[in-house]
Amino acid sequence: MALRDIPAERVTEAVARLAIKANIELDPAVEAAIRAARQTEASPVGQAILDQLIENAAVARTQRIPICQDTGLAVVFVEIGQDVHVVGSLEDAINEGVRRGYTEGYLRKSVVRDPIDRVNTQDNTPAIIHYEIVPGDRLKITVAPKGIGSENMSRIYMLKPAQGIEGIEQAVLETVQLAGPNACPPMVIGVGVGGTFEKCAYLAKKALLRSIGDPSKDPFWAAEEKQLLKKVNETGIGPQGFGGTTTALWLAIETWPTHIGGMPVAVNINCHVARHESEVL
Ligand code: SF4
Repeated sequence: MALRDIPAERVTEAVARLAIKANIELDPAVEAAIRAARQTEASPVGQAILDQLIENAAVARTQRIPICQDTGLAVVFVEIGQDVHVVGSLEDAINEGVRRGYTEGYLRKSVVRDPIDRVNTQDNTPAIIHYEIVPGDRLKITVAPKGIGSENMSRIYMLKPAQGIEGIEQAVLETVQLAGPNACPPMVIGVGVGGTFEKCAYLAKKALLRSIGDPSKDPFWAAEEKQLLKKVNETGIGPQGFGGTTTALWLAIETWPTHIGGMPVAVNINCHVARHESEVL
């Protein structure tokens, strides 16, 4: 079968579009979850904050400005059909898209070239790119700008198998408690369970791409997502950490087979902005 050519420029254009859209237009599923939480939030201060988040999203959308000042590291997930041939450098095309999107969209440039000398690259590149080869002749690009306030509060635990589901719950709840107001709650929480040290971190990040209201396909883990979200909301941290019944809007768990001797668990915290936009080329 002949490979399907996709010019690199199309990738660049898509990434630029997605970076701007993700930063300016709050995901309708997230907004619906905030509105639903507003109906159930017990604390008057919490209710007022949720109202402000809804107003903030409307202002961002109508005035074409970012939902938050931290427009994030550009995390890009690419599903490459094995029958696709990108004409040109895919990696360069993605970074050019980030450069273009963050410049043309007036989005804050938050990337430094080295963790110690901390010189800003001035164009928010390089992106963090995850590639996955899939069947077919399509290219799916997801841009998920990630704010560092919530990223800083994320954690990895190398649990022992005997710690079981209770150990996983404890890890998530400890991470949420330690995050407190720093992750700009209400949070969206991605949990990765299984694999290895780096695989569970990847799974946790990928869990954040799942749309709010879309549970795990595995009934056991779908029930666990529900149960754990309830426990997270019982912590009382509340909107922006001022107390209340809405600490998280959503919690998604992704799992993977693992070694008989281990149980890695990663908890990736996201905030109420929870940005991710996709296009299929
Ligand atoms: S955690 Fe989210 S809402 Fe808070 S500053 Fe970062 S991107 Fe903005």
